[in-house]
Amino acid sequence: MTSVTTGETLIELRAIDMSFTGASGEPLTVLDRVNLRLREGEIVALLGRSGSGKSTLLRLIAGLLAPTSGQVIYRDRPLRGTNPGAALVFQSFALMPWLSVQDNVELGLAARGVAPALRRRRALEAIDRIGLDGFESAYPKELSGGMRQRVGFARALVLEPDLLLMDEPFSALDVLTAENLRTELVNLWSAKDFPTKCVCIVTHNIEEAVQLADRVLVLSSNPGRIIAEVDVAQPRPRNRRAPGFQALVD
Ligand code: ADP
Ligand code: MG
Repeated sequence: MTSVTTGETLIELRAIDMSFTGASGEPLTVLDRVNLRLREGEIVALLGRSGSGKSTLLRLIAGLLAPTSGQVIYRDRPLRGTNPGAALVFQSFALMPWLSVQDNVELGLAARGVAPALRRRRALEAIDRIGLDGFESAYPKELSGGMRQRVGFARALVLEPDLLLMDEPFSALDVLTAENLRTELVNLWSAKDFPTKCVCIVTHNIEEAVQLADRVLVLSSNPGRIIAEVDVAQPRPRNRRAPGFQALVD
């Protein structure tokens, strides 16, 4: 997935509003008329402070939440229910502690009705690719944070999703582990045979957004609105002076 060309639109959010009911029953508007488009060949970072609605936005794209109003369009059709082309990587890994690495990675394939022999083969490939060779029978509690998140990545990548959605995937890891994993991931998705067409990474880390993405969308807080869009391919100093970036850095 090396090109930054404007490929076909994979997902489009049109005038999305999202409200929840707050603790004392008051309405809480989290996202306010959010429009965005993710295209084939792109790596997009969604940058915002804690509580700005980043996870909510990813859940909407994954079809795990329905918007209060507005439309989520996947491949030109309104999304109903779970997005069949998306896979999520979570901040807190969200592994099943009672399942081995292999079984954690196979779980999504099992849910999609893939036969056991094929499931096993694809899971072993994904485990190998993400550097977990030899840990197939280990349980999550036996692994370090970095290794657990590798399982999280293998579990998403084994589905060969069109859209890889990552919700602060490095924020629970120490700095060095995070840096190693980021570098490896960039190598992975730069490979010609990487099947995923679009990566969307949520982060509150400005350096990470600029390091990983072609395009950075900046989300404001209370309510969440996309207040800036920065093309990282542009010269960096100019980006850093973009108003949305400054608002976050100040
Ligand atoms: P972020 O990922 O940017 O930290 P979230 O999307 O998790 O932000 O949450 C944005 C806001 O929405 C927060 O104030 C959070 O408390 C609230 N929120 C998220 N999910 C729910 C929910 N299911 N019910 C009520 N409030 C929610
Ligand atoms: Mg979040």
